[in-house]
Amino acid sequence: MFDPIKTLSPSVPDIDDDAYSMDDFEGVNARWCHACGNNAILTAVQKLCAEEQLAPEKTVFVSGIGCSSRLPHYMGTYGFHALHGRALPIAEGIKIRRPDLHVFVNTGDGDCCSIGAGHWIHAMRYNMNMTVLLHDNQIYGLTKKQISPTSPRGLVSSTSPRGAYLEPLNPLAATLGMSNISFVANAVDWLPSVLYEIIHQAFHHRGLSFVRIVQRCPRYLPHQFDEYMKDPERILLLTHAQGLHVQDAVARRFKHCMEHDPSDLDRARELATNQERLPVGILYRNPGVLCYEDVRTSVEHLTAADKVKALEREFDKFTVQPTS
Ligand code: SF4
Repeated sequence: MFDPIKTLSPSVPDIDDDAYSMDDFEGVNARWCHACGNNAILTAVQKLCAEEQLAPEKTVFVSGIGCSSRLPHYMGTYGFHALHGRALPIAEGIKIRRPDLHVFVNTGDGDCCSIGAGHWIHAMRYNMNMTVLLHDNQIYGLTKKQISPTSPRGLVSSTSPRGAYLEPLNPLAATLGMSNISFVANAVDWLPSVLYEIIHQAFHHRGLSFVRIVQRCPRYLPHQFDEYMKDPERILLLTHAQGLHVQDAVARRFKHCMEHDPSDLDRARELATNQERLPVGILYRNPGVLCYEDVRTSVEHLTAADKVKALEREFDKFTVQPTS
């Protein structure tokens, strides 16, 4: 239909248009290797931000160190590229002071499950309202192929020339054994619609949502996940009214698709340790777990005068008293 205002003044925005598009969430050009699974995760979070119309100035992506941790640079939001293993405590610090922000964490298997493992356990227990994405490629890519805690036994790498000696850490089983957990899911980077839906549900969960994403590293482990990619029978798709919803056309691609009630923690633990098939979906969800920021005094509830008083109290701790 002819729209005289738009035709004559094309710069006038259409009030029906969404305020933000995916382009608004683009940062600098991604420098990951070609076909790296991190690209799919970046696209999913940019799509989420656009679809949820998150204000870029109210959104922050926090990361540690590793290939995955470059993600905040590629977002058109605020970001904090932190120290190795320290993404979670920094995200918690942001959330306690600014509960109004949308906080995301991008961490790798080395960053979260090795040097950051202590923070991982306690962040789960604190259950602060944020979305944590574990990019699990089972290798240290940034430092050129060293084994990580999730590398399979026998993997030959620059730090394990005779093959990795130990069985890998299972991030899902480990998380499901921690205290106060409220949301645990598993996704894979090569099923973009399912990946998006899981991240979408994670974002809408109030509490810490932990999403482990099996992420391809074609540079150093090009065939690591072929068994799952080439044979959909090795995937167990978990759906439920309170869990993952997928379109019938997507569900039909999987021979093994089951209803899993995400409130069933024992069943979630069994699924997490299933050796035969990789579970994809929401394993556990408990919206009743308290968020730490809700049981602590929040700055949001303070008046401007209270904030000044609190600030002065902090400064007074460093007062130098003259000696007589
Ligand atoms: Fe991705 Fe691996 Fe390249 Fe890192 S080294 S950017 S994880 S493909």
